[in-house]
Amino acid sequence: MTSKPLLDRPAIVCGGGIGGLATALGLAQKGIRSTVLEQASRFGEIGAGIQLGPNAFHAFDYLGFGDAARAQAVYIDRLALMDAIEDAPIADIPVDEPFRTRFGNPYAVVHRADLHGVLVKACMDSPLIEMRTDARVVAYDQKGDTVTAILADGSRIAGGLLIGADGLRSAIRAQLVGDGEPRVSGHTTYRSVIPTEKMPEELRWNAATLWAGPKCHIVHYPLSGWKVFNLVATCHDDAPEPVSGKPVSKQEMRKGFEHVAARPLSIIDNGEDWRLWVLCDREPCETWVDGRVVLLGDAAHPTLQYMAQGACMALEDAVCLSHKLESHDGDVDAALEDYRLERIPRTARVQMGSRLMGDHIFHPSGARAMLRNSIMRAKTAEDYYDDLQWLYGGTGLGG
Ligand SMILES: Cc1cc2nc3c(=O)[nH]c(=O)nc-3n(C[C@H](O)[C@H](O)[C@H](O)COP(=O)(O)OP(=O)(O)OC[C@H]3O[C@@H](n4cnc5c(N)ncnc54)[C@H](O)[C@@H]3O)c2cc1C
Repeated sequence: MTSKPLLDRPAIVCGGGIGGLATALGLAQKGIRSTVLEQASRFGEIGAGIQLGPNAFHAFDYLGFGDAARAQAVYIDRLALMDAIEDAPIADIPVDEPFRTRFGNPYAVVHRADLHGVLVKACMDSPLIEMRTDARVVAYDQKGDTVTAILADGSRIAGGLLIGADGLRSAIRAQLVGDGEPRVSGHTTYRSVIPTEKMPEELRWNAATLWAGPKCHIVHYPLSGWKVFNLVATCHDDAPEPVSGKPVSKQEMRKGFEHVAARPLSIIDNGEDWRLWVLCDREPCETWVDGRVVLLGDAAHPTLQYMAQGACMALEDAVCLSHKLESHDGDVDAALEDYRLERIPRTARVQMGSRLMGDHIFHPSGARAMLRNSIMRAKTAEDYYDDLQWLYGGTGLGG
């Protein structure tokens, strides 16, 4: 006797970013077919780095491509928090062997395109996953157990489940939640990737380094087998409107950072081809499910990047959703409700925690900066590990 499939028709995954592709792989692992609909003309990611906590690697392992993902990563030794005015350390958290042993996986940095490439290849290799580009979903329709994605060209694709993994400006969320535009944070982030030889030699640290200054911070780390350095500089300049990837001159961006010490400022001077994003997020929301439609990743819980967890949470969502479909033995309603109940508190903690980190750790000045330094300098590595247990210790399955 053959067992009943967990879903009798393919799932439709709207969005081919990290969250959508990981979900298609998770579903395939449970024997569920899916069609990934990506609006762009090719599957790709922006040319920048991403930090991945051990929880991302727990998800990779669950999804079956842990080794392929680990092969793309640079394993940093520490997370370094520096005072950008004093040019002095605030916290130095080792993420070497004891950290890896405690959390069962490394903290690593990876080029987005490399990571995304691993996911695209794994999806392409799966006989259960169909990938379509130039497929922009504008709405959905549902009747009984059938949900239909409606594309911009008027075509309709029906399936047994629709997963809205279509990012910050999700069309699926617009219909499902209808909560308007994302919240503009007023924080502007500038990104650049430079060859390692252009990074000041004295700053070529094997660390994810963050220089915290009044209303600004600067991050750097090595990528792609140390061939390049990823630079990210953020300032709280009350930018009023969302912007995505606009080229900007060095002179223009330097204005938000001229009050920091010479060493962190030199990072900006060494950057090239800077581009800017005005960051957005949303309030946590409890509506993630409408019948056979469910939200995932940034579509469900967009967050500021200050905990470096947006993509990690999308990966955990993918693991959790596929696991719930299996553990509820194909009872889709029960699986979606369980997924929603499990994921909301954890992702809301990341959304709220990221805002707090920006205000109280990355951007304070004067007495508040002194307070930050005194609290953070008094902590041991073990204290930091204990603080991070809730985040890195789990598997994305509530454990
Ligand atoms: C500056 C910055 C730094 C960050 N650093 C980190 C970090 O270090 N670590 C970390 O974990 N996270 C980080 N993040 C967050 C992370 O990038 C996101 O959380 C993650 O990429 C979300 O993945 P996603 O698949 O949900 O959405 P997205 O990556 O936005 O993917 C959505 C996909 O859907 C497609 N799409 C959109 N609309 C439609 C439609 N209507 N129809 C079809 N397709 C559609 C898009 O083209 C895209 O391919 C950072 C974010 C920023 C802005």
